[in-house]
Amino acid sequence: MLKKCPMCGKGSLIRKKVDETMFGVNLGRFPEWVCNRCGESFTDENTTRAIIDRAKQKGIWGLGKKVKVVKSGNSLVIRIPKEIADFMGLEKGQELYIYPEGKSKISVEA
Ligand SMILES: [Zn+2]
Repeated sequence: MLKKCPMCGKGSLIRKKVDETMFGVNLGRFPEWVCNRCGESFTDENTTRAIIDRAKQKGIWGLGKKVKVVKSGNSLVIRIPKEIADFMGLEKGQELYIYPEGKSKISVEA
């Protein structure tokens, strides 16, 4: 019996190997359930654990962090956590390009 896709409700889920990336780092291929109609993929508990373990091995698990906005003169300041600075190889004095991606997301590029 094929499982129905919980996203579109029309497709069936088939077992497939899917490339997983986290923060732009390739984690490898993992067995997942993929909808043959909308293409949405779903991971079961074992696969989710394997992906987390691989991310931990690569030292990128937990790189996403909460930060607070503080005021400095007329600008607002957000601190870049050390882990993210290390991951990106950022240094003091380096120029970055910052821009909004819509109303709820900011991108910062080195
Ligand atoms: Zn679907």
